[in-house]
Amino acid sequence: MSEATQLSRCSCGKCEVRIEQPPLARFHCHCSICRKLYQSDYADVVAVSASAIDISADADIHYDKYRSFPAVRRGTCKHCNEPVIGTLMGLLAFVPGRNYLDQKALPAPQGRIFADQPAHDDMPTACSYWQSQVLVSRLIMAGMFRA
Ligand SMILES: [Zn+2]
Ligand SMILES: [Zn+2]
Repeated sequence: MSEATQLSRCSCGKCEVRIEQPPLARFHCHCSICRKLYQSDYADVVAVSASAIDISADADIHYDKYRSFPAVRRGTCKHCNEPVIGTLMGLLAFVPGRNYLDQKALPAPQGRIFADQPAHDDMPTACSYWQSQVLVSRLIMAGMFRA
């Protein structure tokens, strides 16, 4: 394992994802799908390149697409139902921040998308669909240039 390698897994431990790259971006997504999947106000999401992902337990993952974001394929654990991995057109992968075994490997959250109210703090916040797309693209691009 190289130094950049990180492991993430769901709480039952059956679905492990190996990530061979430092995070490109970390953000909070407040969209309705994330709220439902995470049973929470938002999802804490880490974006990496899809090519950096190695999934050992694909058979244990249930994949779904949702009509409002058909480009994103979302994988949840068949055993504990927790989100494990999301992929965007084979380019990007999204890993739940809480699944990282080494939380110190993660940067602080850099933005908030699909928020239902404007920022109440210093974190860049986008509410509308397009603002959210722009903000998340900007965060990921910045990560790509850092890498
Ligand atoms: Zn979302
Ligand atoms: Zn699980």
